[in-house]
Amino acid sequence: MKLSAHLLSATIISTSTYILTKSFVISITSLFSGILIDVDHLIDYFIEKNSVSINIKEFFYKCHNGNFRKIFLFFHSYEITFFIVLLYFYIQNDILLGLIIGVWSHMILDILYNTKINFSKGSVRIVGYSFFYRLAKKFDASKFYDCSGMDKN
Ligand SMILES: [Zn+2]
Repeated sequence: MKLSAHLLSATIISTSTYILTKSFVISITSLFSGILIDVDHLIDYFIEKNSVSINIKEFFYKCHNGNFRKIFLFFHSYEITFFIVLLYFYIQNDILLGLIIGVWSHMILDILYNTKINFSKGSVRIVGYSFFYRLAKKFDASKFYDCSGMDKN
């Protein structure tokens, strides 16, 4: 899902969270976590380029076209989202609750937008959101992301 869509959805979700909870901490944490989870795309970009320099146009092009040999996406994983929930059962605080709302809503939207039942062009296998699955596939993007027929650059 594109950054602009995440900015809009995270803003709507954090505003709704504030209306429901009256907690600025929960609301602001959900806003930032719902957007900043995508920082792992930047990490993948740096790894792919083997450099920490960034060309913004190229970065967004590569992200939107799945133009990566390896996809790590450390934060986009079922394991992280469930770990946050597990942690919340032990340490109940507003920051963790905001993280759950932000990260889960982001992941749900990404999964709805990026996965297709038939694993067709431009889609991600639903198991591709598992960190351990990606690890088992040695983070080889072609094993869980179908970018066949898409514009490669
Ligand atoms: Zn995302």
